[in-house]
Amino acid sequence: MWGLDAGMRAQDDSHDHDHWVALDKAHCWHPFTPQDLWCDPQHDPLMLVKGDGVWLEDDAGHRYIDGNASIWTNIHGHAHPTINQAIQQQLSKVSHSSYLGYAHPLASELACELAAQFPDSSLQRVFYSDNGSTAVECALKMAIQYRMQCGEAQRDTFVAFIDGYHGDTMGAASLGGVDAFFARFRKFGFPVEFVRSLEELRALECLGRVAGVIIEPLVQGVNQVHVWPEGMLAELRAFTSEQGIHLILDEVMTGFGRTGKMFACQHEEVVPDFLCLAKGLTGGYLPLAATLVREEIYDAFRGDRSRAFYYGHSYTANPLGCAAALASLQVFAEEQTLERLPAKIQQLSEALQQLQQASPWVHSTRQCGMVAGVELRARDGQAFPANRRVGDAVCLAARQYGLLTRPVLDTIIILPPLSINAEEIHHIFTAITQAISDTLGDSAEIL
Ligand SMILES: *Cc1c(COP(=O)(O)O)cnc(C)c1O
Repeated sequence: MWGLDAGMRAQDDSHDHDHWVALDKAHCWHPFTPQDLWCDPQHDPLMLVKGDGVWLEDDAGHRYIDGNASIWTNIHGHAHPTINQAIQQQLSKVSHSSYLGYAHPLASELACELAAQFPDSSLQRVFYSDNGSTAVECALKMAIQYRMQCGEAQRDTFVAFIDGYHGDTMGAASLGGVDAFFARFRKFGFPVEFVRSLEELRALECLGRVAGVIIEPLVQGVNQVHVWPEGMLAELRAFTSEQGIHLILDEVMTGFGRTGKMFACQHEEVVPDFLCLAKGLTGGYLPLAATLVREEIYDAFRGDRSRAFYYGHSYTANPLGCAAALASLQVFAEEQTLERLPAKIQQLSEALQQLQQASPWVHSTRQCGMVAGVELRARDGQAFPANRRVGDAVCLAARQYGLLTRPVLDTIIILPPLSINAEEIHHIFTAITQAISDTLGDSAEIL
């Protein structure tokens, strides 16, 4: 069976495993995790120790396909020689130097390459930070400070889409629409109006107070891979321009080829005012983020000291991260990563259709490029009771067949590294098919 044939755990490794788990349970606190479940004696966490291409290996030597690209970050596979070498080369020079008060060559090169992805110098200014949340956080602060410095301080509100996800720092989180994550902190964040659609946005009475609209273009990942209607982004761009409202695109997940083009906004030839990038920026190797802005926004921060953007992090523009990001862009060119996507996207689409036809439990499948969701429901078309945690159970079962991924509720996310090949895509679907039938039975009649 896939994943289980890679060798038995050696005696002393097993000792190490128990040791690491004990230390973890004694001292570590995992993200988005109910710790009592995690620390339950029955729960034996997977210890991942190695990666190679789309494969991850645990401390017992079992191999798994990285079916969600290590939480949506990995692009070209693990331990890619070009990216590894670029990091090592920079490592031998300097690992980190402050970007506050100093510059470094790779940050300059990377900013130039990112800006070159957009036509006519439309997004030519790059502000670095560390992760997706901070990429969004600083776009929001820039958007507000911009208004203050342009005599439009009344524009102090954001519009965000219901069920969107923009990260977990306070400002970014306040624009998130997933109540389980954000409801308890709602009163601490930015003023925000939530809308479900472009129509609801158009109907808002407070448009004159809106600084910016934020959206995950084309597809909301955390919202169970909710795909926006075609053309919606271009319409949103036209409407926001007409209203003098900034368009903030959160491409933290969709950036770097996930949707089939380098950036999701390129499908509808949209250029935003702010573009937030993180996860895939370094190929998924190191934490680095970038917020790209139009030059006219940057211009509002010029002048005397009081107009400066007082924001930054200790590891801003980390040189190792910049080395990885430049190498990732090099791999895009050398391996023709984008050019090779259409065939993979087609295969993914056919496999999703087949899975839906073959399994009585697959209510619907959703796809945007290399991002897919498989929604499981009971045979009457109703959602399973939340406490059954069907999505979790299926993903756990899939490990037996050499696949790692995570669900959002009962939607299984398939979001592999873009370097995945046809055989590996096939493997993902074999594993999911098996895991669904192991968890729920072969026939819809069983429940
Ligand atoms: C993951 C994600 C973020 C947050 O990024 P972090 O690096 O986890 O802080 C923000 N927006 C979107 C769309 C994301 O998928």
